[in-house]
Amino acid sequence: MICETIDPKDPKESGPDVSVITQRGNLAEIVVAQLASRIDSGLYGPGDKLPSSAQLCEEFGVSRTVIREALTSLKVAGRVTARQGAGVFVTEKDAKTLNFEISRIDDIRSAMQIIELRLGVELQSVALAASRRTPEALAEIARAYDQLESLDTTDAEIEAEADFDFHLAIAKATRNPHFPRFLEAVRGEISLDLVLKHRQSAGGYQAYLKKINKEHAAILAAITQGDVKGAKNALALHLEESLNRYRAMLDEPATVAEE
Ligand SMILES: [Zn+2]
Repeated sequence: MICETIDPKDPKESGPDVSVITQRGNLAEIVVAQLASRIDSGLYGPGDKLPSSAQLCEEFGVSRTVIREALTSLKVAGRVTARQGAGVFVTEKDAKTLNFEISRIDDIRSAMQIIELRLGVELQSVALAASRRTPEALAEIARAYDQLESLDTTDAEIEAEADFDFHLAIAKATRNPHFPRFLEAVRGEISLDLVLKHRQSAGGYQAYLKKINKEHAAILAAITQGDVKGAKNALALHLEESLNRYRAMLDEPATVAEE
C-alpha cells in the first residue's frame, strides 16, 4: 500500500526535503537517517511517541513497507521501542549504550536461524539423552552445568563457551556421535547467538545468568530423571524465548507454542 504525498505541506512542518526522499536509493535508510537526526536533535525526546506509521508514510511520501523497515532498523539499533498497541516511542536510555552488534539486522537473522536449527536437532538430542543416559554422561552434563554456574566473568565469549559445553555434553549423552559432531560443526554460529544474548543482557547480567542456569537446571533434572517429555519441554523453553525475541525484533511472527 503506497501513500503518496500529494499536496506539499508547509515546509516548516514537513521537515525533511521530500524531493530528496523521492529520489532513487535506499528509501528506508533515508527515513532512518531523518528519524535518527530528529531523535539526536531532541525534536523527539526520550520517551516521546513517534508519529504513527500512517503519518510517517504520508509525510515522507513512501510506502508502509519502507516505514516498517525503517522502524525495525531503529528498533534493532535500540533507538526506539514498540509498545504493544500504544505505538513506537523513543528509547529512554542512552541509545549509544544499546548500540551493540545486536543493531546489525544480519546478525540477528543469523542468530535466529541457528536457534531454529538448534531447536530441531536439540529436541531430539535431549530426548535421546534422557532415555540413553549413563552415569558417566550424566556426570559430564552436571560438570558442564556447574562450570557455567560457578563462572565469575562478564566476558561474553567465555560464558558462551560454557553454555555451549553444557549442550555439547547432552549431545554426547545421546550415544550417537553425530549429535556432538553436528553441534561442533556449527559451534561458531551458536556462539554468535550466545554472545549477542549476553550483550543484550548488559546491565541485568547477573539476572540473565541466573535465568540461564535455572533453565539448564530444569533440562538437567529432566534428563537425570529419564523424563523425555520434560527434557524436551525444558529445552524448548530455553531456546524458544530468544527465538521469539529475535523474531519480534525482525517483525516476524512468533512460533505457536507446541502442545
Ligand atoms: Zn543453554
